[in-house]
Amino acid sequence: MSLFTPVEMAPRDPILGLNEAFNADPRKEKINLGVGVYFDEDGKIPLLKAVARAEEFRQQAMAPRGYLPIEGIAAYDNAVQKLLFGQDSDVIQQQRIVTAQSIGGTGALKLGADFLKTLDTSGIVAISNPSWENHRALFTNAGYEVQDYRYYEPSTNGLDFLGMLEDLQALPPSSVVILHACCHNPTGVDLTVENWHEIIKIIQTKQHIPFLDIAYQGFGQGIEEDAAAVRLFAESGMVFFVSSSFSKSFSFYGERVGALSIVTQTTEEAQRVLSQVKRVIRTNYSNPPTHGATIVNMVLNNPELNALWQEELASMRKRIQQMRTLMVQQLKNKGANKDFGFIIEQHGMFSYTGLTAAQVERLREEFAIYAVSTGRICVAALNMKNIDAVTDAIVEVCK
Ligand code: PLP
Repeated sequence: MSLFTPVEMAPRDPILGLNEAFNADPRKEKINLGVGVYFDEDGKIPLLKAVARAEEFRQQAMAPRGYLPIEGIAAYDNAVQKLLFGQDSDVIQQQRIVTAQSIGGTGALKLGADFLKTLDTSGIVAISNPSWENHRALFTNAGYEVQDYRYYEPSTNGLDFLGMLEDLQALPPSSVVILHACCHNPTGVDLTVENWHEIIKIIQTKQHIPFLDIAYQGFGQGIEEDAAAVRLFAESGMVFFVSSSFSKSFSFYGERVGALSIVTQTTEEAQRVLSQVKRVIRTNYSNPPTHGATIVNMVLNNPELNALWQEELASMRKRIQQMRTLMVQQLKNKGANKDFGFIIEQHGMFSYTGLTAAQVERLREEFAIYAVSTGRICVAALNMKNIDAVTDAIVEVCK
């Protein structure tokens, strides 16, 4: 009998499990659409030129690696604010935002969850149905009751907006509402600006606490366009949380660079909130790592590197959009028995294709094409070399 005898095996992460099965598959022409990262036309994770150049400068500088401040690099935190809230944002000018560098977007969510736990909320966190699956686990682990709000409507492959409004209305007042600011993961189905106005009204009336998760800024319609929801909330005068990530927009997954931003009501409130967020950080990991945020900071604050990054981000976005269009065209030309046009309307890296679990299984067994059993595919894993095989197979399994 040891301390660990009663420890049970935790369930495997379904997406990592899928990757393991893919790696073990001996078939040569196999295709993995189950991943959650951007692949370029050659099927590789790109190293952005802007990142490589910043890394060269950093290498040449031979800078010592002291500790960072608890809330991270100040210039980085400021650059994050401008990216999210806009260059001329009132909330920035009024010094009402607190921003802390975090360990990726996940780290920002966890910092926010832990700080919120010290405040007066209903104790309920509401997430979209479906959502990025770590939302549920993270907030449950942080001590909240997690509930779903309606979001995706399978019959239209679109949004169940009325269901969403009803569910937000039905939550107890002061519940925390997690909202995907753009490029909803896993569905790709986003809210329009008009939808956001209505959501804001309900959240305001019910005194809910909005927590915007923006992990794909720049992958939807553009850097500024994708931040529309963040800016609408800022204009509303509400206090709210934003978790943001550079994992995707800098193709910087393993560097773990993100930020938690909290919009408060006054400068003085911001100072008190920051002091508490610092306490959460200090007691978890003391202070954040230097490398990734230093590079992001160099790129964002250097006009030339920033312009290069924006170009590279735009080309990732455009390649995904091209793949969406091509996929839909090919499915139509090949006589698919349903209209997949909705895939063009979706935003970001993912698509809920509407394929059933049984169809996804056939894709894997008969065609060595791997997707998530919910029908989610990573559009960024498509390229000119594999798209024909993918659309052929989808037409076949839909027959
Ligand atoms: N939020 C959403 C909606 C995501 O899809 C992801 C990553 O897949 C994250 C947060 C976490 O991002 P990071 O890898 O920066 O922790």
